[in-house]
Amino acid sequence: MQVSPKVKLIRYTADPEATVALAAKLCYSDREVDDLTDNIMSGDNGAFIARLMEMGHHSPTEHASFTFSIEGVSRALLAQITRHRIASFSVRSQRYVSEDSFNYVIPPAIEELGAAAVARYVGQMDTIMDWYRDWQSALGRGESSNEDARFILPNACETKMIVTMNARELMHFFELRCCNRAQWEIRSVAWKMLEEVVKIAPNLFRDCGPACLNGACPEGKKSCGKASEVKATRDKLFAAVKSDKAK
Ligand SMILES: Cc1cc2nc3c(=O)[nH]c(=O)nc-3n(C[C@H](O)[C@H](O)[C@H](O)COP(=O)(O)OP(=O)(O)OC[C@H]3O[C@@H](n4cnc5c(N)ncnc54)[C@H](O)[C@@H]3O)c2cc1C
Repeated sequence: MQVSPKVKLIRYTADPEATVALAAKLCYSDREVDDLTDNIMSGDNGAFIARLMEMGHHSPTEHASFTFSIEGVSRALLAQITRHRIASFSVRSQRYVSEDSFNYVIPPAIEELGAAAVARYVGQMDTIMDWYRDWQSALGRGESSNEDARFILPNACETKMIVTMNARELMHFFELRCCNRAQWEIRSVAWKMLEEVVKIAPNLFRDCGPACLNGACPEGKKSCGKASEVKATRDKLFAAVKSDKAK
């Protein structure tokens, strides 16, 4: 069965902006932590966080963590997202869980080719499913057969994961993966993750998105040349989040 990405922010540090502000203020203050906490909880930390970001004092943002569930994505996405080493992952196992009826992602470019192309692709997935079942029964049912039968599976095969990143790593992740140069699937997941965290910590993630939003595009000759369109997309997304919150 065809699936598409489902991204949810399922847990996060309580009061992430206050936590970051407290950690940063501690660095510059001779006051007790309890005094600082009272002061931070009663005030608006937006301007202070903005100043921190401008100063490049990013380490306090490591104290706020965000945990996402990500489903309906391909093993091709898994190979990319797990390159981010300052993140924690738990991924559905292809040893413990049989893939004899695996779901799969259909690339939009294949869908755009029309119904015949999609039917061809679905037929190929069905064939691979048959091959997988063949190997499962040849190897004997159970965990040890899954372990080797999975070698026949495609990158399109669905996976599910829980991912935790701190705010600093998320900012870096957004720079790389919200960029038009990133592959379409991880890009769509990254934008969804950004949308989710902006709802919770708008000051912290205010300037986040691909690198071109905060300076020159680092892609050089490979730049998409669409920085102003990207900025408009980001601004529209943030405005929608703000208006949803105001309702
Ligand atoms: C458009 C695009 C195309 C890509 N194409 C390829 C490709 O063709 N082949 C390929 O192999 N990969 C490719 N990648 C993956 C890329 O090379 C990185 O592995 C991935 O983006 C993770 O980035 P990172 O290492 O900065 O992030 P993280 O692992 O999240 O690390 C965050 C930061 O921590 C620091 N850090 C982490 N670990 C170390 C360490 N061991 N030593 C020193 N500093 C560290 C670095 O400053 C790093 O930027 C591509 C990525 C993108 C976005």
